[in-house]
Parts: sequence; structure tokens; C-alpha cells
Amino acid sequence: MSLVSVLNVLRRSLQRAESMLTDIAGLNRSVAPALAVHGPSVLPQPAHDETSTPSFLDSIFWMAAPKKRRTIEVNRTRRRATSKLMKVKTNIEPCPECGHLKQKHVLCGYCYAKVRRETGEIRKVIYAMEGKPLNTPAVETVVLYDGETATEVDKDKRIVERPRKRPSWFNLS
Ligand SMILES: [Zn+2]
Repeated sequence: MSLVSVLNVLRRSLQRAESMLTDIAGLNRSVAPALAVHGPSVLPQPAHDETSTPSFLDSIFWMAAPKKRRTIEVNRTRRRATSKLMKVKTNIEPCPECGHLKQKHVLCGYCYAKVRRETGEIRKVIYAMEGKPLNTPAVETVVLYDGETATEVDKDKRIVERPRKRPSWFNLS
């Protein structure tokens, strides 16, 4: 919403409030009964006098503005305050798996992305096998990579085959 439309909305609402007030006070000349009041008028007067032309300054919405320019030294002192600087991290170490730098006690983002990608591929295979989204399987799932065959133990389990070499981080268990 632009400033001009905001000003227009504000002006219209002010005019509505003004006309409501004049109606309540009985100042609406079209319907007001003739009433002679002696003494100073305490009733609210219409803000706009028809005899004087309205100034263009009436429609401006005045906002607070700084009275003095702040020097560049003051601004830079504020912007470069020690509380706003980045803290130096001392808890960074190389990942034991891939060697990328990572925070201590935090999962390596690079390794996590690798595992996530492979898990997504396995999920796609399961979806293609069962024709529906993943449900909680009643049996255990075994993932077989290239050159691997199901053993006697895995006979009754759900077998997912992946046409690639087994990743080093995916332990055969
Ligand atoms: Zn890693």
C-alpha cells in the first residue's frame, strides 16, 4: 500500500468521524433544528472553514524525523560494537569420516547429506516394490548392494536391491 493511499484512507476516516461528531452535536445544517444558544459555543466546530482554501499541508501525514545528523564515527562505533561481531568458534574439527570441517558434537552435514540421498533412493525402491508410500513394515528390511546375496538369516525379511557398490559408511549388519 503506498503512502498516498494510506493518507487517503486516513483522511476519509477523519472526515467520517468529523461528520459523525457534527451529527451527534446537532450541527448538521441540513437536518438540525433551529436552536438559538447564547454565550460562547462549547460544541465542536467543523474543522474546515469553507471561506478559507485548504492548504496542501493539511493532507500531509507528518512523521518523526531526526533533528541532528549522526556522524560516521558514531554510526561505525554502533555497527562495529563488540557485541555485534561474530564470535570466534574454537569447537571446529575435521570429520573423522570425510575430513570436512564440522562443529564438535554435531553431525557432519556432508556425511548427513550422503546418507540422506542414499536413504531416499532406498525409499524409492521400496515404493516401486510395494506400489504405495512407506508403511511400518511387519518384517525387517535388508538392503543388498552389488555382489551381495541374501543369506539364510535374511530369507524372510524384505529385501531391497540397489544397483551400486555398498557405501563405506553403510555397515553390513
Ligand atoms: Zn563427514
